[in-house]
Amino acid sequence: MDKNNLFPAMNSPGCTLCRGLGYTIDLEHSNHKKCALELCECAKTQCQCEQESPYYAIVTSDSGLPQMSPCQIYPLHLKMDRIANLYKESEIPSRYRYKFYNAHFEVSHLRSNDFIEKMNTLLPPIWEGKKPSLPSGLYLSGYVGSGKTLLAAIVINELIFRHAIPAFFMKTTRSLERIRQTYNIESESYGQGAKIEDLLHKVPVLVLDDLGAQKDSSWTDETLYDIIDTRYEEGLFTIITSNKKLNDLKELAGGRIASRLKEICDVLQFPEIDYREIIHQRKR
Ligand SMILES: [Zn+2]
Ligand SMILES: [Zn+2]
Repeated sequence: MDKNNLFPAMNSPGCTLCRGLGYTIDLEHSNHKKCALELCECAKTQCQCEQESPYYAIVTSDSGLPQMSPCQIYPLHLKMDRIANLYKESEIPSRYRYKFYNAHFEVSHLRSNDFIEKMNTLLPPIWEGKKPSLPSGLYLSGYVGSGKTLLAAIVINELIFRHAIPAFFMKTTRSLERIRQTYNIESESYGQGAKIEDLLHKVPVLVLDDLGAQKDSSWTDETLYDIIDTRYEEGLFTIITSNKKLNDLKELAGGRIASRLKEICDVLQFPEIDYREIIHQRKR
């Protein structure tokens, strides 16, 4: 992919390549294990070190003697390391990693004016570099293939990449199973339940993907309610995707999940389009 296309110059002043971030991403060398961030040309001219931790350089002191000093773009180096680390811990599935709003042209309805306007009222346009002030909840509902998981992923990719905000992608069914396993004495993760639940309760941004697909039991209902409710109490941002409308979740946890979500979430209903089918047809 053309790197210049990732951050097309819009209204933002400064460097058109990184739009003021100071770094870009090398998509060809980024994968599940590694996020390959690169200093942008505009920042390279200011870097005094070898671009390696601990990011110190030999500079001439006032007295004319050489001394070790932090590179003048030291905070930028640290931010890039932090972003690479956040990506590693985010558990965003490979197919949704490094998906950015401006670069993602194939999902045309995500770019329709109507949709952008709705998104902009819910979230400040983080993809234009605006500082995020996150809502409590966003409920994305639509058929399989309507693009809701992609949009949820785009939001957290942008938050991690631009703002270094920690985010976690939770496939609802799989994560619940993971928590359940921590109660199984035979399991490798036995006893680690508190650690996983702590992460889900405290991470600043959480995607709960495909809510409603899990097998209902009072245990799953309670665990889910606990996650949603704790995050609400802490004022943390939760993005939920579901094939079901909020009203169809009435049976979960005696209606408490749906009523809590109604209270905290802005709802975005996706159009009835299967974009995966459209892309498939175009390729034929
Ligand atoms: Zn730049
Ligand atoms: Zn440097």
